[in-house]
Amino acid sequence: MSAFPPDSFIAADVVPSPNQDERKQGRTPDMILLHYTGMQSGEAALRRLCSPDSKVSAHYVVFEDGHIVQCVPEGFRAWHAGVSSWAGETDINSCSIGIEIVNPGHEFGYPDFPLRQIAAVISLCKTIITRRGPISADRILAHSDVAPARKQDPGEKFPWGLLSESGIGHWVRPAPVNLDGPSLQPGAQGDVVIRLQRALRAYGYGIEETGVYDDATLQVLTAFQRHFRQARVDGIADSSTLLTLRALLETRPAPLA
Ligand SMILES: [Zn+2]
Repeated sequence: MSAFPPDSFIAADVVPSPNQDERKQGRTPDMILLHYTGMQSGEAALRRLCSPDSKVSAHYVVFEDGHIVQCVPEGFRAWHAGVSSWAGETDINSCSIGIEIVNPGHEFGYPDFPLRQIAAVISLCKTIITRRGPISADRILAHSDVAPARKQDPGEKFPWGLLSESGIGHWVRPAPVNLDGPSLQPGAQGDVVIRLQRALRAYGYGIEETGVYDDATLQVLTAFQRHFRQARVDGIADSSTLLTLRALLETRPAPLA
């Protein structure tokens, strides 16, 4: 695999990955998908992302010290999302730019993300958006948002609020936990559950309106909390979660023309 020029000089190194192909139907990326690597070291993760046997890759890897390595040119389709869905679309690799953030993840102690690493992620997102044209704030997402049944990354320690303060991503200050008010538990049924599922679906989550608070609903709700109501990730649609979801729907940016 020969080296290619980085899409911008914010990438300090290029380590090409063979795990890429053409974006389907010439789709141009209009989503940024954030991951954690979930391996014990960044070097091991980078090796895996560039190994032909792994069949996985990402456009960028951001190390703990803020060092950014590009593995796939943005014009090509990296293989980071897997089976996933958002806003009715299922080929997330074709419509997105994938950023792997080095962190061992839940399996290996899940340390905090260092601030200099987050600063690098913010700068990287900014250069992508500035160069490529607008990417709607509500299409800067977690892997867990598009694959809630399979994925937890980048997880509930990822500082989406800090990104939002820098103009990256759509986020509202979450309603405080322990509010009185309606709360829905797994197993609940009826119109209230349909309304919850409809609201999650309206935001983009791949969820069916079954009217039953089933496992799929629990998984989507948990993914929602990992991103938007991180203080308690338990899959229960408590008042705080419902209010936060409503505030997000009310403040989401208008669709780009
Ligand atoms: Zn991931």
